[in-house]
Amino acid sequence: MLVCIVILVSWTEPDSLSDNVPRRPYVAIVSTWLLGALHNVFSACVMIGHFLCSRPRVPTLWHLRTFWPCRFGVPVAQRFNGDARRPSASKLQASIFNFNTFYYIGFFLLSVLGSAFYGYFFAVHLLDIARHNQILSRVIRAVTKNGPSLICVLIYSIAFFYIYALLCFAFYRDTFIPSAGNFCDTMYQCTVTVIRRGLIGGIYSYLVVPEGRSFQYHATKTIFDVSFFIIISTIGLNIIFGIIVDTFSELRDAKWQADQDMRSSCFICSKGSHDFARCKGGFEKHVKSEHNLWSYLFYILYLEEKSRNEFTTIERYVWKLYQKKRTDYFPLYTSLTIKQEDEDAQMSAIVTCVSYLVGKRKELDIARQRELEQLRQRQWEARYAQSRRSRAARMHIQTVRAKQLASDVDD
Ligand SMILES: [Zn+2]
Repeated sequence: MLVCIVILVSWTEPDSLSDNVPRRPYVAIVSTWLLGALHNVFSACVMIGHFLCSRPRVPTLWHLRTFWPCRFGVPVAQRFNGDARRPSASKLQASIFNFNTFYYIGFFLLSVLGSAFYGYFFAVHLLDIARHNQILSRVIRAVTKNGPSLICVLIYSIAFFYIYALLCFAFYRDTFIPSAGNFCDTMYQCTVTVIRRGLIGGIYSYLVVPEGRSFQYHATKTIFDVSFFIIISTIGLNIIFGIIVDTFSELRDAKWQADQDMRSSCFICSKGSHDFARCKGGFEKHVKSEHNLWSYLFYILYLEEKSRNEFTTIERYVWKLYQKKRTDYFPLYTSLTIKQEDEDAQMSAIVTCVSYLVGKRKELDIARQRELEQLRQRQWEARYAQSRRSRAARMHIQTVRAKQLASDVDD
């Protein structure tokens, strides 16, 4: 971008129209060279980094045999009579014939060409911004995702242009003025002119009807112009714009849905974010540390790279399920955090119940002690009353005996 800014502020018109070498001050030339050299080095580093990280491999015979069947959706096993044995290859390796490999090679070559040709080719590198910006990536994907549909519509529209070019060549060749850039001496020239003028502003704006033509000529020319306006300018272009806008809306809705899913539920266990509201750290901690989806991906890549003979029991179990494209090893609708919280809650409930029972037991013991004490009190009072009555009776008997003895002595 710095190179482009230097070019933007320093380049002036060349000495002649046929000359493409711009006039630049000396500072701009040195700056372009220095920044260009830096750009070359960084581009080379990016390309080498891609080759080191992705390790692009040359496709094997198996890949070449299965390339087109896979593209057309034919199951490999069916195509090769059940012989779908895939040569073992790491998932970390990329094919040498993939987009990224050509992209980074082209990136470096254009950087070298930019240094060699005054900086012209550095303009292409500005487009790399789209690869690092999600919004721009979505805009580009809106065009590329439905690329086949757009290409079909464009090819179909070329058929319409060809028909109009034939009509122009047959009936309206005299309305094309070569001095204004409208050529129609051959069918090829007529087609190119109709496509060029038809897409930019409508061909009816550029064709000049010679003087002295009859009303019949103007009437047929009106039908020609109006049909071109309706079919090409209105319907055709709006179909293309509609496809692009619809794709962009789909991508935006899909992105919104994906963001909503990521915010509202865990990708691994499918539990809702509200389930983790009472847990420490909440939903964010759960998806970042407990059920981090990248950890699961790294685990699968780790199994891919590990020798099958060195698998542990768990690794063998996960690997077998992964080979069958099953996700039973995912902790669906369960999590250690929630389980721990549930266990803590259960333990707390048990402690509360036990405390209640102990308290109740103590109250019962105190009540029983009180009753026993009261019973003992009543028994003591009964014994005391009994002894008093006995003592009174004995004293009465003694008194009677004493009186009887005294009367006997008097006699
Ligand atoms: Zn989870």
